[in-house]
Amino acid sequence: MATVKAPRGTEDVLPGRSEQWSRLEAVTREVMASYGYREIRTPVFEHTELFVRGAGEATDVVEKEMYTFADRSGRSITLRPEGTAPVARAYIEHGMKLWPQPVKLFYIGPMFRYERPQAGRLRQHYQIGAEALGCGDPALDAEAILLPIELFRRLGLSGFSVHLNSIGCPRCRPAYRERLLEYLRPRAAQLCESCQRRLERSPLRVLDCKVPTCRAVTEAAPRSFDYLCDDCRVHFETLQGHLGALGVSYTLDPRLVRGFDYYTRTVFEVLSDQLGAQNALAGGGRYDGLVESLGGPPTPGVGFASGMERAMLAASSAGKAGGIEDGRAGWIDVYVASAAPARRREALLVTRRLREQGWRVETDYEGRSLRAQLRWADRAGARVAVIVGEEETSEPGDPMVVRHLARGEQQRADDAQVVALVGRWLA
Ligand SMILES: [Zn+2]
Ligand SMILES: [Zn+2]
Repeated sequence: MATVKAPRGTEDVLPGRSEQWSRLEAVTREVMASYGYREIRTPVFEHTELFVRGAGEATDVVEKEMYTFADRSGRSITLRPEGTAPVARAYIEHGMKLWPQPVKLFYIGPMFRYERPQAGRLRQHYQIGAEALGCGDPALDAEAILLPIELFRRLGLSGFSVHLNSIGCPRCRPAYRERLLEYLRPRAAQLCESCQRRLERSPLRVLDCKVPTCRAVTEAAPRSFDYLCDDCRVHFETLQGHLGALGVSYTLDPRLVRGFDYYTRTVFEVLSDQLGAQNALAGGGRYDGLVESLGGPPTPGVGFASGMERAMLAASSAGKAGGIEDGRAGWIDVYVASAAPARRREALLVTRRLREQGWRVETDYEGRSLRAQLRWADRAGARVAVIVGEEETSEPGDPMVVRHLARGEQQRADDAQVVALVGRWLA
């Protein structure tokens, strides 16, 4: 019979890596807490309409990449492609407008996109993200940029740079859009096929096209930050002043527009020169119109998201200094072996007592020889072994031996001494 395999574009995170993932999540929770963000867990599936209204119909994600299906009642359901629209929905649904503003939320979880799986682009992938809702102050934009930098710094990365742009607001963007169209229309023939198709509908997306001929065309295109209204200009200048004061180096990048329609004003990407210029570690921006477009009260918001697979890669390339230890180094502290079959029940009792101390303890379940048990202990990375009995003829009640596996040193212990001795050797 054929075996069942995991669906295309998914992966199993196995022991060895899963410890690293947990560590990344723990560091994330620490950093988020220090910035005043609290965790939100939204469902992995939502009504399709949420993403169509949130991200915008003409975006690549909504057009081609959503994992959408009809459930058994014929409702259109989508596995969430991103985390911001669900958080905005929850903000409205739970009346968070009445909470102290800003409401700062973070999430860690799987996102889904239906596309041809390729290197590093999984159909189920994980994201870390944070959203600050209910306040339009540029200091929150600065925080949304600083937070992922702080997170990656704690994972051992350095050499950060920020690409920054402001794409204006519904008041100033239409005029810029018109100027951009005036510039692009006469050059349309030089654009790639997909840019020609989306030119009239979303000309800003032409700016971030990676096709070389498109890049050549947009090189001298009008820049959005030259067309900002007064409010947007002051917001953008204040943000830049904050970043300068915080020592965050940034580059103005007029091509940066990001993939979703809901962005207003600030858009940014955080890069590290340790990963190469192509790879953004995090991206985000301000989305002052999103909550309203989902039927909520006018509510400004700003946030960022970061791919966890990318973060893991970054952390492991930064080495163990990153604080993400290699889980393969060992997963138990103490191994409890029994020297004789007659002492297996005692081994079970000692195992439980040691586990109650909070140590990671494993024992034999298969009646293996003492030699085989100690080999197993070594593979699992145990530092200390408790051998219940000294030889195969040992009887219940005979002394135990506690052995420091790296030093080869060992000491006899009775039932009353064993916990203290193990504790001393693990310290
Ligand atoms: Zn504006
Ligand atoms: Zn193009």
